[in-house]
Amino acid sequence: MRILVVEDDVNLNRQLVEALQEAGYVVDKAFDGEEGHFLGDTEPYDAVILDIGLPEMDGITVLEKWRAAGRIMPVLLLTARDRWSDKVAGIDAGADDYVAKPFHLEEVLARIRALIRRAAGHASSEIVCGPVRLDTKSSKASVDGKAMKLTSHEYRLLSYLMHHMGEVVSRTELVEHLYDQDFDRDSNTIEVFVGRLRKKIGTDMIETVRGLGYRIQAPQEAK
Ligand code: CA
Repeated sequence: MRILVVEDDVNLNRQLVEALQEAGYVVDKAFDGEEGHFLGDTEPYDAVILDIGLPEMDGITVLEKWRAAGRIMPVLLLTARDRWSDKVAGIDAGADDYVAKPFHLEEVLARIRALIRRAAGHASSEIVCGPVRLDTKSSKASVDGKAMKLTSHEYRLLSYLMHHMGEVVSRTELVEHLYDQDFDRDSNTIEVFVGRLRKKIGTDMIETVRGLGYRIQAPQEAK
């Protein structure tokens, strides 16, 4: 899962980025509204954390422009505590949720998890696919009740496929959502990670759909 953080406070930006990376996300960052708008307009994100008070272009304008251009990724706004009018303007502009400053990082992480889950149509924090269970809260996975040891790349891949369970996900989509913008993207590495993941969760769980990509689904539901 790939997240964009748009926050001009350098310390806060770093804290958010570090907490998100520790939780297993790939993160891009921007420090002003124009840079943030550009990234959100051109790169695919699973969620965005957007500050309202930004140099160059304020967060509400950034959000309005994205929504007007049909960008529908979940957006969590960071607002000043006593500015209720900002919250109303933000939600009217297309925000999905907000957190008032100062906040606990755990709250931001919980809200981001929920936004990503809901965008993929999952209501609970645990996503189950046959014998495989993904706990989005602890960033852990198990198969047949046994905890799996996954590298961060493998977890991200499994998490993305599980969030889009039953759908065919292309290699390009996986590359875009599993790596940040600076990563040297070689889609062959996706095949390597799929291979490793198959060894851990069972070879029949992830289906290769020729020419299209990959799909995870419970074996009994396979056609
Ligand atoms: Ca700010």
